[in-house]
Amino acid sequence: MNQTLVPLMEVKGLKKHYPLQKGLFQSNKGAVRAVDGIDLTVYRGETLGIVGESGCGKSTTGQLMLQLLEPTEGKVWFEGKEMTSLSKQELRQMRRHMQIIFQDPSSSLNPRMRVEDIVAEPLQVHGLYKGAALRERVVELLELVGLGRHHLSRHPHEFSGGQKQRIGIARSLALNPSLIVCDEAVSALDVSIQSQILNLLKQLQKELKLTYIFIAHGLPAVKHISDRIAVMYLGKIVELADRDSLFAHPRHPYTQALLSAVPIPDPTQRKQRIVLQGDLPSPANPPSGCSFHTRCPFAQEICKKTAPALQQHAEGHAAACHFPL
Ligand code: SF4
Repeated sequence: MNQTLVPLMEVKGLKKHYPLQKGLFQSNKGAVRAVDGIDLTVYRGETLGIVGESGCGKSTTGQLMLQLLEPTEGKVWFEGKEMTSLSKQELRQMRRHMQIIFQDPSSSLNPRMRVEDIVAEPLQVHGLYKGAALRERVVELLELVGLGRHHLSRHPHEFSGGQKQRIGIARSLALNPSLIVCDEAVSALDVSIQSQILNLLKQLQKELKLTYIFIAHGLPAVKHISDRIAVMYLGKIVELADRDSLFAHPRHPYTQALLSAVPIPDPTQRKQRIVLQGDLPSPANPPSGCSFHTRCPFAQEICKKTAPALQQHAEGHAAACHFPL
């Protein structure tokens, strides 16, 4: 990661609430608070991991950051420009610089298209290459991800899961983006393939000076690739820290519980697992005060009434807890 921290993207007060409508007259009955007030800075050249259970709002956050979803509230700046105020044309131009890689390569690649056409599509849409130059650019992209010219005329079903994800990555690189959101990009792959793809992403980051937002529910993958990690719970960031600091000294009880659930490969070492009580509450009806209080082993009276702010408790290490660990 770059030692001089230059912001590439900034997010302030980001919210996405889906109104709940009921009855014949579709009257408003509250809202599902998928993302509920997020402030974040993503620095050029870093990988920011976003981790949390299914339904915590991490994928929605990624899509809001790319303006693939319209926020209910909040603003997003990319390279200093406020994106929510851009015209459609300006947004389209800016989107060239940010791409997304989805979880399931099988469903994100059109099964009827040849690999050449899949990877060439964004270049054609933006009118960047034609004819032989287009084909050479596609070959160059395939070679960047460990595939080659001989794959051009094949269809997605002829590839393994890992190879399909390589095709998805090649396509995401076509427009020379500076930011890529990897939305559960390795979660559907076998563990051995996961590390190959993670290593490929790291190598590409170095070669092409990419910035990643790496969204995952599994901590091992996030640990492998991230410089900093944001932990999300019920639409909010509850902890944000450098990777090493987060793993060595988690300060939020939820992060501590997540870390305690990660198996240790050494059977001689044991750690006490913190088992969280109950399920993730519904984002349509989040608990009062600290939304983690219904499952937190350290909850006290104040936690039920007052929501803790995300505050720095050490250099580069913030947590939203009245009694940080
Ligand atoms: Fe637990 Fe209270 Fe901290 Fe929330 S604020 S995580 S309930 S101790």
